[in-house]
Amino acid sequence: MKYDYLIVGAGFAGSVMAERLASQHNKKILVVEKRNHIAGNAYDEYDEHGILVHRYGPHIFHTNSREVFDYLSQFTEWIPYEHKVLAKIGNELYPIPINRITINKLYNLNLKTEEEVKKYFENVREKRFPILNSEDIIVNQVGKDIFEKFFKHYTKKQWNLEPKELSQSVCGRIPVRTNDDCRYFTDKYQFMPKDGYTKMFEKILNHKNIEVILNTDYKSIFESMKFDKVIYTGPIDYFFNYKFGKLPYRSIRFEFKNYKIDSYQQASHINFVDEYVPYTRITEHKKLSGQINYSTTISIEYPQQDGEPYYPIPTEGNRKQYLLYKNETEKLNNVSFCGRLAEYQYYNMDQVVV
Ligand code: FAD
Ligand code: UDP
Repeated sequence: MKYDYLIVGAGFAGSVMAERLASQHNKKILVVEKRNHIAGNAYDEYDEHGILVHRYGPHIFHTNSREVFDYLSQFTEWIPYEHKVLAKIGNELYPIPINRITINKLYNLNLKTEEEVKKYFENVREKRFPILNSEDIIVNQVGKDIFEKFFKHYTKKQWNLEPKELSQSVCGRIPVRTNDDCRYFTDKYQFMPKDGYTKMFEKILNHKNIEVILNTDYKSIFESMKFDKVIYTGPIDYFFNYKFGKLPYRSIRFEFKNYKIDSYQQASHINFVDEYVPYTRITEHKKLSGQINYSTTISIEYPQQDGEPYYPIPTEGNRKQYLLYKNETEKLNNVSFCGRLAEYQYYNMDQVVV
């Protein structure tokens, strides 16, 4: 059997490409996935307690793109879900992103208007110019104290780097607000797939022109299969046999626990921003799906160096190393590289779909 395309990886990048090429261009596609399931890092499944859990960390869908939302809506119904996160300092919980409620609680203030909060930030911020890194972008908005309380230690735990060693885009993902909006995202479309991500991927890949093989590293079948073109969504350094060295990725160990109680914590996500807590966040999965069950499952995230490559690490040095690989991709005619690992970019799901 000859295929038009070999697609490596059944995550968002690989699956959406497969669907588009099959349904819009009538191409024959072979998708090769090394894990024993589709959906990439968005994979979810019911655990032994009957709770829908996200195996590779909580995935919250949010986008401003009508096009992305409409496209995915062909494959799933949605439930409305606006993500809210609390940050824990000592025994107290504070809304994050930082907003008026956070400031009032933290400093025992009674700021009533957005103007007052703006003034407050104006007084405490430390002007930084140019903004060169993840420390600058936060300190420039809210000053050193808030930076140290909410960002410094969480970031060090998450990346094993100081914020000043990381691109401004990392902590710059988190806005600072002067109102009391406690939502993590303000995107126009904020939903969760009604039956979960994996079911949505089953529908995306359900096309007569698409064949999926699991548990297979593409390198093991590369020589024996016939195809015209390749779309590669795995780690770019692996494709080139690490010829310019291994690119650094950050991994996470997820510890799942089930409790025979209705509710474990006050929000679906709690971020542990203190230095002495060894993990970064706890997710209560039922609170993402709205599922009703007599028990509840949580996952605790311990960032680590080894393991599955989850996060490209946005530093200047790593970017330079990535560009050596990117340069190699330009010499290949029949291979396209896309997705978080192949482009070494800290993409959200919607950025990959687009
Ligand atoms: P992946 O999902 O990583 O898919 C790549 C696939 O390629 C994998 O299935 C992998 O097994 C396979 N593969 C790799 N090498 C090979 C090989 N040699 N042979 C065969 N197959 C191979 N985004 C959001 O929008 N909202 C969130 O809340 C959110 N939370 C996240 C939380 C965590 C902990 C992580 C790690 C990511 C999160 N993301 C979130 C980002 C989201 O996971 C990515 O944007 C998305 O999964 C990228 O899709 P992808 O197809 O590029 O990569
Ligand atoms: N961050 C932080 N404290 C928080 C939340 C986020 O320091 O309470 C920083 C941290 O460096 C993190 C980055 O901001 O990696 C982006 O946060 P986000 O919640 O978007 O991370 P993700 O969900 O991608 O892991």
